[in-house]
Amino acid sequence: MKKLKNRIFDHISEVADNMNLETYVIGGYVRDLFLKRPSKDIDIVTIGSGIELAKAVAASLKPSPKVNVFKNFGTAMLKYKDLEIEFVGARKESYQRNSRKPIVEDGTLSDDQNRRDFTINALALGLNTANFGKLLDPFGGIHDLENKIIRTPLDPDITFSDDPLRMMRAIRFATQLNFEIESFTLQSIAKNRDRIRIVSEERVIDELNKIILASKPSVGFKLLEETGLLAIIFPELQAMKGIDRVNGIAHKDNFYHTLEVLDRIVPNTDNLWLRWSAILHDIAKPATKKFVEGQGWTFYAHNFIGVKMIPKIFRRMKLPLNEKMKFVQKMVQLHMRPIVLSEEVVTDSAVRRLLFEAGDDIDDLMTLCEADITSKNPEKVKRYMKNFKVVREKLKEIEEKDAVRNFQPPVDGELIMKIFDLAPCREVGLIKDAIKDAILDGEIHNDYEEAFQFMMKKAEELGLKPRN
Ligand code: ATP
Repeated sequence: MKKLKNRIFDHISEVADNMNLETYVIGGYVRDLFLKRPSKDIDIVTIGSGIELAKAVAASLKPSPKVNVFKNFGTAMLKYKDLEIEFVGARKESYQRNSRKPIVEDGTLSDDQNRRDFTINALALGLNTANFGKLLDPFGGIHDLENKIIRTPLDPDITFSDDPLRMMRAIRFATQLNFEIESFTLQSIAKNRDRIRIVSEERVIDELNKIILASKPSVGFKLLEETGLLAIIFPELQAMKGIDRVNGIAHKDNFYHTLEVLDRIVPNTDNLWLRWSAILHDIAKPATKKFVEGQGWTFYAHNFIGVKMIPKIFRRMKLPLNEKMKFVQKMVQLHMRPIVLSEEVVTDSAVRRLLFEAGDDIDDLMTLCEADITSKNPEKVKRYMKNFKVVREKLKEIEEKDAVRNFQPPVDGELIMKIFDLAPCREVGLIKDAIKDAILDGEIHNDYEEAFQFMMKKAEELGLKPRN
């Protein structure tokens, strides 16, 4: 018997008894109850009409919540306090080869448990008075919970071939819960990997994003790689795996380096897009890799090429093509700058330029760069971290002094055109850029008077005369 403390279960129990409907709480909520993970989504299954039960439960509550009915799916959802409760009639599913959408018929609790993806997700607790809190665990789900194992209830080849999204879900749960995938189940994912192609990109990426948002995403990516799924869903990342050697000189494995950077950034950000930046920061290394005699392995301009690769990857993955993608592109483009900066004497001018280019994303950029230090040499790491501290301090100092983070030129193009009686032309751009550079290089302050004088001087050099 499991304690179902929330009052809502007593309500549902009473209503189900009155309607003479055999009713259970099932799936993720029950799993999370045993794992002591708080969960706000409750799935209720009844041997009969889930929609009718939902309506009756809603009517018994005060105030009575709205019931959202999804007739096509035979489900109904209501919100009660901070809970989302979904009601469905127990069902039996049969699948066709080319689709992950099953043919659905009414079924028993046992049919319903058979269609579940993993043993730990097939647990049910009785809700009627006669069996309130009684556990129904036909596949040893509790045993698997205790041993931290992901396993399909039926033959994994059937479970995965029926709905290949479950392969992504297996890896996602293993990552989120820190569970192992049982070996037959894992082998079956490798065997059925090509079936992932029938699943919509949105659903696949939804699972991938959950892996990325977990506390150790590398676990999921390694499983994706080992099973061969990665090569299908994310070939650009797969291409990063491996080491080349010329004249005995090897470069590091960029796949494992990337995973290390991703894990390292996790404690410092829950921003999905900064985590994506970690995944993509070196994505163009395979494309730019070159062995240069006397220099070793080079990845010339891999940040710029990476920026160009991103729209194609985002479009295919149905990720947003808006300012979120632009943010990732900016991170990838600038990811080497703080390192380069920290290797030299940190000049005001270099810091100002970095601030100008990164704008409000400067802190995220520094977070990415610090995560990017994966050297195994502790001396080297210490030196980098110390230098980064200097860069951060300098950033703060310059920002306070010069406010170039969201740089707006004190003298703009409009004014230049007015003073010199010009239409938009090359000279206006030249003067504008010269003013910007002078400020960023510290020749003049970010100040109207100084910028105005500088403009006059520059214009004279270009042979321009102010209008009277
Ligand atoms: P999370 O809330 O973290 O996404 P969950 O398992 O708690 O995970 P859902 O994805 O909403 O939540 O799934 C609820 C339940 O429905 C699962 O526990 C499982 O029993 C079942 N389920 C969901 N998707 C599938 C699927 N593709 N195949 C089989 N059963 C599924």
